[in-house]
Amino acid sequence: MDDCIFCRIAKKEIEAYIIKESDKFLAFLDIHPHSPGHSLVISKEHFVNLLELPDNYGNEFLQVVKEVSTLLGKAFETDSLTIGINNGVLAGQAVLHLHLHLIPRFKNDGGGSIHSVVFNKPKESLEEIYLKIKNASQS
Ligand code: 5GP
Ligand code: ZN
Repeated sequence: MDDCIFCRIAKKEIEAYIIKESDKFLAFLDIHPHSPGHSLVISKEHFVNLLELPDNYGNEFLQVVKEVSTLLGKAFETDSLTIGINNGVLAGQAVLHLHLHLIPRFKNDGGGSIHSVVFNKPKESLEEIYLKIKNASQS
């Protein structure tokens, strides 16, 4: 993926403030931080989103996410972080290469919880929704 910006960062063709590196993952500062320390964890290989990540990459991914979270917490003296993936274009994914946002949170930082990301209250009952998912899992 020659034209993918995150593949190019992973190959060190484009500079970034890299804060952690493992065999398969890389963490660096987001170029447009929403908070001091706002960082991204990416896979070094090109996967569009989390669903493409091979199952056996999961442990290393979570390990890096945890290590960077601890590091950011120490660096910015906070025990709170918003951790999230804009997984898919409708969820706000602009760069189509798997990345997870780590956003240190502070008192009165103007942000909200994950509940403030979307307001699309379902018309169906919880039971109807549950049955839809159950049916999907059986087909
Ligand atoms: P998303 O795809 O989840 O909406 O967010 C992509 C994120 O990547 C944005 O927060 C944006 O600031 C960041 N980003 C885009 N291009 C670059 C880049 O070239 N370098 C770095 N460090 N971050 C980038
Ligand atoms: Zn890529």
